Amino acid sequence: MLPFAAVLLALQGPVVSDTSPFRALPLPAPNRVRGPSGAPGPDYWQQRADYVIRAALDTAGSLLHGTERIHYENHSPDTLRFVWVQIEQNIFSKNSVTYALNQPPLHFAGGAVFDFTGKGFVGGITIEQFRSAGRELDRTEYGTMMRAELPRPLAPKGTIAFDVAWHFPVPPYGGGRMGRIGTRLYEMGQWYPRMVVYDDVHGWNPLPYIGAGEFYLEYGDFDVTLTLPAGFVVAATGTVQNPLAVWAPATRARLARARRSAERVQIITKDEAVTSGAARRPGTKTWHFAARRVRDFAWAASPDYRWDASAWNGVLIETFYRPSAAPWEEANRMAWFTIKHFSETWGMYPWPHATTVEGLVEGMEYPMLTFVPAIEKREDQYWVLTHEFGHEWFPMMVGSDERRYPWMDEGFNSFIDYGSAEGYFKGTAYGDTVRRELLTAYGVSAVPGNEQPLITNPVESRDLAWTAYQKPALMLTVLRDAVLGKETFERALREYVRRWTFKHPQPADFFRTIENVSGRNLDWFWRAWVYTTARLDQAVDSVGTAGDTTFVFLSNRGQMVLPVTLELRYADGSNERRELPIEMWNLGSRFTSRIRTGGKAIAGVVLDPQAIYPDVDRANNRWPR
Ligand SMILES: [Zn+2]
Repeated sequence: MLPFAAVLLALQGPVVSDTSPFRALPLPAPNRVRGPSGAPGPDYWQQRADYVIRAALDTAGSLLHGTERIHYENHSPDTLRFVWVQIEQNIFSKNSVTYALNQPPLHFAGGAVFDFTGKGFVGGITIEQFRSAGRELDRTEYGTMMRAELPRPLAPKGTIAFDVAWHFPVPPYGGGRMGRIGTRLYEMGQWYPRMVVYDDVHGWNPLPYIGAGEFYLEYGDFDVTLTLPAGFVVAATGTVQNPLAVWAPATRARLARARRSAERVQIITKDEAVTSGAARRPGTKTWHFAARRVRDFAWAASPDYRWDASAWNGVLIETFYRPSAAPWEEANRMAWFTIKHFSETWGMYPWPHATTVEGLVEGMEYPMLTFVPAIEKREDQYWVLTHEFGHEWFPMMVGSDERRYPWMDEGFNSFIDYGSAEGYFKGTAYGDTVRRELLTAYGVSAVPGNEQPLITNPVESRDLAWTAYQKPALMLTVLRDAVLGKETFERALREYVRRWTFKHPQPADFFRTIENVSGRNLDWFWRAWVYTTARLDQAVDSVGTAGDTTFVFLSNRGQMVLPVTLELRYADGSNERRELPIEMWNLGSRFTSRIRTGGKAIAGVVLDPQAIYPDVDRANNRWPR
């Protein structure tokens, strides 16, 4: 019998496993709202917000006026005594975090610039009224957020309507995500007061809108009328409800043709755009749109637009652009391919149209509508166009919390964009190598001591392009190509999309879904890639032979673990690949692979022969060195 102290020490044996890369990831415990399999549980709930908005654009004063009725349903088990409302135009007001800090623009690789200060523009929204049942509510503004006290507590299953009136000056540049060019082109997002998400994880989510973190929004239906100068053409989230009032008979006939055409039909030709852009039309025109099951509503308007349309599987694919945007004649085909590719690979596009608008915004996404600039180089044009449409899947369908977890929308989207670009440019040097840029980016951005984990809050990220976009795309590429295999991986990601479309997933819901569908424990993978800046260094230490068995002595010299692909190069010139599963590292960072060679002499060994991994020291991947 062991002395007591020794027994204790023996029992503490498992403490050693606390440093194991395979120890359990401390995720929030599953419950009846968010289940252990990563699916929404039997008691899953989310709030609902429906909007009826009447807005009018005064181009002379560059003012947008609106009245709005918000119908809000409390599906939570909690009684609410106040609500939080997002008033994001206040990013341009003097009491916003962004204004006070006045930081330089965010620069992305490829040259996109997002200046959230609006280049010094001072504006902000004026809430003229915020009422319920005719009574003005007490309210307090905190920059881009506003708290309104309810006249009486809103019980579970209760509903309440808010009547809001507001106006704001349309910023000339816009702060990266919306704005105008003079009085000729308007791209409008973050323009109407909307409900902050109330969820089961944080309750209210009134994190300020600073710029880097995008939007976390409730789902609902929208009924929107926009009154603009008569000569303007309008593109928006939702479908036009008054086509006879806003479209000429010829336009409607061309649109009908486009609905049956895989090739673009010109709804407004270049000549027509130039002519109508030069014409002076007095008065205004009111456009009426409706959208179902969306988390946001955006619109764009100009008297100068060309307009192309085609259709795929009942979805109208539209591109609006100025006559000066020459490369955009191909944009409709790019958009068509994009919507088809993403639908077939990740889940069907759920709305009646997918529209992209050319203009000043460097790239921004809203349900059914994206803002994309004209870019000279075809590959770059495709990339931004497909990226913004990829956001229809993440986060417009899968409604994750972008203000906390941009990697769950920008990152997942960037990953699927590579597949889209590989498809569109298949067989070209670009298409066949574009994904390699992720490993190049690793070398540039994953600098020890400087790199931050991809879970980093976006407003604290020093390199958002890496933590929110490229690293998650590299992570999913490695998960697909080296850990799960394409079929299992795609099935798991599709299931995540299916489970969480029109819902609000948290990181743990994603991890659990992938693990449950693939049948693999991946805590070790998420820890290394999401929560740390662990680096990979796989090495062949030496190779020896005894009888007809060859011993390949391997070591894992970094903090990240991954499976090993071993390429055996025989003396007779033949090659063989062996896949060693992740369990090889169960007993520590050294592993001896015993290979019966059947008498064939091994001349060399190479790890990760396809160079899939961001292995920080490739020199030790081969033997002999
Ligand atoms: Zn994006």
